[in-house]
Amino acid sequence: MRILVVEDEQDLAAAIAAGLRRDGYAADIAPDGVSAIDRAAVNHYDVVCLDLNLPDIDGLEVCRTLVSEPATAGDIDVMPPKVIMLTARGSVDDRITGLDSGADDYLVKPFSLEELNARVRALLRRDTNNGNSVISQASIEMDTARHEVTAGGESVLLTVKEFALLRWFLLHPDVVHSAERLLEHVWDEHADPFTNTVRMTISNLRRKLAEAAGDHPIETIPGRGYRLRTQT
Ligand code: CA
Repeated sequence: MRILVVEDEQDLAAAIAAGLRRDGYAADIAPDGVSAIDRAAVNHYDVVCLDLNLPDIDGLEVCRTLVSEPATAGDIDVMPPKVIMLTARGSVDDRITGLDSGADDYLVKPFSLEELNARVRALLRRDTNNGNSVISQASIEMDTARHEVTAGGESVLLTVKEFALLRWFLLHPDVVHSAERLLEHVWDEHADPFTNTVRMTISNLRRKLAEAAGDHPIETIPGRGYRLRTQT
């Protein structure tokens, strides 16, 4: 899950991004409306945390642009980003205008990072899994709200990146994902595409799943990428 933080207050943007990364999301920062729209044209974001008061374009206008762009990611269907408006404007009229512009949620500053993260989780659940926080495929069960994973009924302790990678596979099973796609959706702009980061994380994830369940369902498809197999 990849999230764009659009916020011109640098310290706040960095704090929000750090909080999201601790929860296992890839988080990029855009300091203004133009760079937000540019980044969203290149990367697919699952959620955008959007400051209403930006130095260049009004946040409402940015929101309208982001939710109207068609969203594709190769052969898998992706949703347009969910938008959480972040603003000091808290009147009922402002909220209605924000929601009418395509925002999915609305958070008035100052807010706690815990609340923002909880709202992000709720938004992601809304579409991905019929509102259920538990995702199951093959012998794996993931509780995205509690950050817990079991394989074959045994508890598995994962790093935030391993957790994020597994969540991506569980949400898109039986589809081959190239390393580039995994980098795009699970890692953020700080990831170096020339390192073995995807291969290493997959290798650690497989080992932990196999230690718990005796086997793991993540196949390598030579020359193409990786696939979580749900049928044996
Ligand atoms: Ca601002």
